[in-house]
Amino acid sequence: MVNRRPLIAGNWKMFKTCQEAVDAAIQISVLVADVVSDVDVMVAPTFTALALVSDKLEDSPVLVGGQNLYWEKEGAYTGQISADMLVSAGCKCVIIGHSERRQYFNETDETVNKKIKAAISAGLVPVFCVGETESEREAAKTFSVLDKQVQKGLEAFSPDDLKSLVVAYEPVWAIGTGKTATSEQAREVHSYLRVLLDRSFGADLAASIRILYGGSVKPDNVSELMSMEDIDGALVGGASLDPETFSKIVHFK
Ligand code: PEP
Repeated sequence: MVNRRPLIAGNWKMFKTCQEAVDAAIQISVLVADVVSDVDVMVAPTFTALALVSDKLEDSPVLVGGQNLYWEKEGAYTGQISADMLVSAGCKCVIIGHSERRQYFNETDETVNKKIKAAISAGLVPVFCVGETESEREAAKTFSVLDKQVQKGLEAFSPDDLKSLVVAYEPVWAIGTGKTATSEQAREVHSYLRVLLDRSFGADLAASIRILYGGSVKPDNVSELMSMEDIDGALVGGASLDPETFSKIVHFK
């Protein structure tokens, strides 16, 4: 029986100035100090705040993650940030393939694949986001959409490459909408994702990968979600912006 340590990750998206991010990160590190022996906690500020936040969290187990990266190591790619640059700013993790990036910034399964590869090569934990839109769910395409996202996103990796991978199931219709998947809807998809991982990479890896749920996670729904089999954590958007609220989510037990 594999013991998957829960991970609660906050995605701050394009919110918070540098000072606001530092203040929030410090508050979070204090508020969650009593549970970090049992739960991994991550915050993902904007690029401009990463180094400052990492510096302030140097003595805290709270992890810092990027919200995106570019797969090339360096070069004439105005506006892009490489995996090594994230590492040099103190990141341990990076969110890849978030639905907002797929929707607004032309992220595809192919670019997601390249980004995961770059993250792993640099020693970053990739938090690989997948999920269906509302119309795909209504058309009963949830599983086929996930099949494709997982297959293409993780194409050409070996089980060994993916030892640190975290998957985040984020139904697009539940992100920032206040609609949460029911705990049973989420469990069903998480179990399905684990079967997909098992088929492609074997039982050992599938059993060890953490699968987070994301989509309007709040203090009042996190405990039920976390009680479900195959739900190993949460990727939290809106509710991670307020340290007190995020801390309540981290204290889901
Ligand atoms: C997210 O952006 O990953 C997310 C899940 O957002 P929210 O919690 O606001 O739905």
